[in-house]
Amino acid sequence: MAIATINPATGDIVQEFEPLTDEAITLKLDAAQQAFEHYRLIPLQQRSQWMSAAAQILIDRKTEFGKLMTVEMGKPIAAAIAEVEKSAWVCRYYAENAAEFLADDAIETDASRSFIRYQPLGIVLAVMPWNFPFWQVFRFAAPGLMAGNVGVLKHASNVPQCALAIEEVFRQAGFPEGVFQTLLVGADKVAQIVADDRVKAATLTGSEPAGISLATHAGKHLKKTVLELGGSDPFIVMDSADLETAVTTAVTARMINNGQSCIAAKRFIVHEAIADQFTQKLVARYAALKVGDPLDPQTEIGPLATPGILKDLQHQVTMAVEQGAKVLIGGNTQAIAPTVEGKLQQGNFYPPTILAEISPDAPIAQEEFFGPVAMLFRVPDLDAAIALANNVPFGLGASAWTTVPEEGDRLMADLEAGSVFINGMVKSDPRLPFGGIKRSGYGRELGRPGIYEFVNIKTIWVK
Ligand code: NAP
Repeated sequence: MAIATINPATGDIVQEFEPLTDEAITLKLDAAQQAFEHYRLIPLQQRSQWMSAAAQILIDRKTEFGKLMTVEMGKPIAAAIAEVEKSAWVCRYYAENAAEFLADDAIETDASRSFIRYQPLGIVLAVMPWNFPFWQVFRFAAPGLMAGNVGVLKHASNVPQCALAIEEVFRQAGFPEGVFQTLLVGADKVAQIVADDRVKAATLTGSEPAGISLATHAGKHLKKTVLELGGSDPFIVMDSADLETAVTTAVTARMINNGQSCIAAKRFIVHEAIADQFTQKLVARYAALKVGDPLDPQTEIGPLATPGILKDLQHQVTMAVEQGAKVLIGGNTQAIAPTVEGKLQQGNFYPPTILAEISPDAPIAQEEFFGPVAMLFRVPDLDAAIALANNVPFGLGASAWTTVPEEGDRLMADLEAGSVFINGMVKSDPRLPFGGIKRSGYGRELGRPGIYEFVNIKTIWVK
């Protein structure tokens, strides 16, 4: 894949970049290693000041960075600016809490003194996706740099300007040269970077094939990895739920980032007693969504990030229909062509779509739809809802709506997911760990657990 900014709303090539040569990659890793030798000794208080400065730069430049994201990957502008603000929040969170998380932990044993000390590992490689081009990087970099590691970023090839802007934020904030560097390289260079002795660990957010590839190479060199992969999150609505709030949240939870979020609600599993009402309301809300130019603040749904994603989604909807799905709304790009004008028609637009009557056993029901397409299922009771929710290879998040406390307890206990949200949509939050089980990956980002993924948890025993 070429490294380039291609506006997904117009198809225009905005800027192309030459990938780094092997020599340039080596020089960047040399710089990272040199930076680590002194950065690991810098007091936490100083790191914290730099991280707070990074947060302030993000806030000061949020409109500029938001626009950059929108032009590179099509996120509606208001959401893009909000993402920059959230990235500032994670910087502040670790700036304020890292000292507590990384303090020596005393443990009583037969020693005169025994404790855990948390020490950095060295260079950590981050392979990141385009869908949250700032947030995904900052949620790796804020805990990583606070812990004393140095980072090298291989960002998705379609967001090179975001990748360079993030490097600039850390430099401007005062972090020493080499502590955070962007490597403009394609996916084909990841194996050789992971193999470099100086690179101690890697984290990847993205698709299953990418995760498998990284983990295979890292395994060969016995290096730690964290993988945040895909999901097909259930959104369960029981008959006791507050229907209005559930429907409103269902739309937001499915449509976030034009439907391209790993934790978007993708399968709506609704109790049959309220299924007709829920469906009617959902279709009406979908029909009212404004699809168009993502730079227009009124737009709710922008284009998909690349023509490839559009093609994959179209294929999946076709397969769903072949496998028995009924299209309640959308399902055809022609449906939205009149709502966009001029050059925008060249963009990767796909209409909000609802698929119903899919058999839970249909192969397509096992897949992740990475775009504004919802699958709707009806169930007779809670047991059936939980069984259906768990009947996918993924286990990232789950949202469930009920006002019956016993039902809430069952859902918390039995849903196979890295996080369960009752009467709310699944969302990431710097204070709460984030990650999946099953084929959604392993390891955790954010919260206290997030900072321990890339440290040496060293046991000290003294007599
Ligand atoms: P992707 O194609 O896997 O790309 C993600 C990153 O991996 C990019 O930097 C990409 O580089 C790189 N990459 C691709 N193939 C690789 C390989 N064989 N070896 C090493 N690196 C490789 O994923 P995507 O299409 O951008 O994102 C969609 C997927 O990511 C969805 O499944 C979504 O659910 C998941 N996701 C998960 C989370 C989470 O937190 N769990 C968050 C966001 C997205 P190039 O761009 O150069 O190809």
